[in-house]
Amino acid sequence: MLPLTRVLAVAGLALSVPLAAQSPVDSALAGYIAGIRAIDNHAHPLLPTLPGAPADTDYDALPLGAIPPFPLPRGLSADDPQWIPAWRALYDYGFADMDAAHVKTLLDAKARLARAQGVHAAEWALDQMGTEVMLANRVAMGPGLAPPRFRWVPFVDPLMYPLNTAAEAAGTPDTRSLYPRESRLLRRYLRDIGVPALPATLDAYLARVLVPTLERAKREGAVAVKFEVAYLRPLDFGDPPAAAARAVYARYVRGGTPTHAEYRTLEDYLFRTIAREAGRLGLPVHIHCTDLAGGFYRIAGSTPLQLEGVLNDSTLRGTRFVLLHGGWPFVHQTLALLTKPNVYADISMMSAYLSAHTLADVLREWLEEMPDRVLYGSDAFAEHNEDPVGWADVGWVASLKARRALGIALTAMMRDHDITRERAQEIAVMVMRGNAVALYGLGGGIAGNR
Ligand SMILES: [Zn+2]
Repeated sequence: MLPLTRVLAVAGLALSVPLAAQSPVDSALAGYIAGIRAIDNHAHPLLPTLPGAPADTDYDALPLGAIPPFPLPRGLSADDPQWIPAWRALYDYGFADMDAAHVKTLLDAKARLARAQGVHAAEWALDQMGTEVMLANRVAMGPGLAPPRFRWVPFVDPLMYPLNTAAEAAGTPDTRSLYPRESRLLRRYLRDIGVPALPATLDAYLARVLVPTLERAKREGAVAVKFEVAYLRPLDFGDPPAAAARAVYARYVRGGTPTHAEYRTLEDYLFRTIAREAGRLGLPVHIHCTDLAGGFYRIAGSTPLQLEGVLNDSTLRGTRFVLLHGGWPFVHQTLALLTKPNVYADISMMSAYLSAHTLADVLREWLEEMPDRVLYGSDAFAEHNEDPVGWADVGWVASLKARRALGIALTAMMRDHDITRERAQEIAVMVMRGNAVALYGLGGGIAGNR
């Protein structure tokens, strides 16, 4: 329990309020929430750095580094002071600033810790955040990121792009580098299932590539699949007839470049097919849904309501969808969609860069209506273990801030007599872990906690 005690101690330091004012968080409730072992719905943990191992490049299919530089929200910037409490808690950082010479001592401490912990470094990081299980959204898993603590969420976007994407890629400076990554990843998926070349017909592609790739993911431990297709195109997937998609596939599978309209027909068909097959396999579908990232990112195309056609598809009601990043800042659209029977939302990324108060306002609105559909998430990520702000630091801050926000929201509901203390505790457990246990069927594989 030492790590959690440490989290609490630092929380007290970093987030103290004037003594005269009533605390926005009931102290007993805060203590209860701090003790909940979380299930993190969405993150990109890195493989621990091991001697002689190559750099980890599987942490994201479309990494931020692949996009031309663009302004980040304040709370995601490496020089934001919110990371300092994480450094102090995790690495005994002895300073209250980010002076270059001081940060050098941080990097030395991180390197020493990585050497000492070896393959256990990632599990150690989870212990510091009070997270029992982290869903790892990665191209592939590897040493140090293994069940039961880490569960795999692979990317399925590449399955939508079997044809030449040159015309699609030309759309914006962002997409120019992103589409080729999808094509390379699809070739890797083909190798993984031992298929030497794309089949000649769409039906054969579904039977020999798309379905076997999803089945392989399930066999290898995936608990969900992830689309980050909002980086590439709007989320307003149409519902074209199979014949139209078959015609596009057959015309271009051996060469040539589809027109934009033709590619969209195929993408729309494949998106729904992937979602349907994932549902058949019991794999919830994660969808990147927020206003980031990239200077040319299509914000209007990535708002939650763009997905309503998909969510209203009666053939997809066997598939559970999770709106990652809560659709932020379009959180009312998210709330509206949570009233559908198969839709969930997480607070990943929101927990990393919003203030606890802003996040609490969102949570209160969602939890008043649909408390069984809201999931904790961190979006903990970094490009290198050697970065000053590592994925463990992001995850630590997100965990602390999410608990604080949940405490603020539930305390206000308690003080307004909307809910009892018992119900507040119950909802806290649901958000931090219980809803995820139910969604992914994690019950048997993890230790019981609250
Ligand atoms: Zn992410």
